[in-house]
Amino acid sequence: MTSLPQLETTDTQEPDWYRDGVRFRCQGPECGACCSGRMGPGAVWLNRDEMEELAGHLSLPLSELKRRYVRRLEGRYSLKERGNYDCIFYLDGTGCSVYEARPGQCRTYPFWGRVMASRVTWEIEAEKCPGINADQTRIEAGDIRRQLEIDTQRRDRS
Ligand code: SF4
Ligand code: SF4
Repeated sequence: MTSLPQLETTDTQEPDWYRDGVRFRCQGPECGACCSGRMGPGAVWLNRDEMEELAGHLSLPLSELKRRYVRRLEGRYSLKERGNYDCIFYLDGTGCSVYEARPGQCRTYPFWGRVMASRVTWEIEAEKCPGINADQTRIEAGDIRRQLEIDTQRRDRS
């Protein structure tokens, strides 16, 4: 896993810079840069609700989900990585094997506080995520704010 985990969220510092929206369109499984280990190790943080959703999706008891797919990291829960730093649920060329139940951190990327802090941090993230500024597909400011709020709420429950 790469950009997903390394992007810890923080409070937005320049909330007005994206008032006209931003250009973003995920390039899909053929990219997978935020799920694979191409850019090194990282973490996908999980709260209890997200672990329970994953356990239900996989028809596993929560204890078994934790044993197979979750690790303790910095006192919190995170998805395990493979030896090459890919997310444990990432399948090369196919993408996320638990897409419907993926954690909020994955759902809200790249609209995290740390990324949306300023135009500069957005452009820095664009070097990792080819969906950023990919074409003219525009995400409106209201949608961005909703994603930021979701990410803050889920982080508070981690
Ligand atoms: S375009 Fe960005 S969000 Fe989509 S898979 Fe690639 S790195 Fe992830
Ligand atoms: S859970 Fe799915 S979307 Fe999230 S990092 Fe892993 S493979 Fe990617």
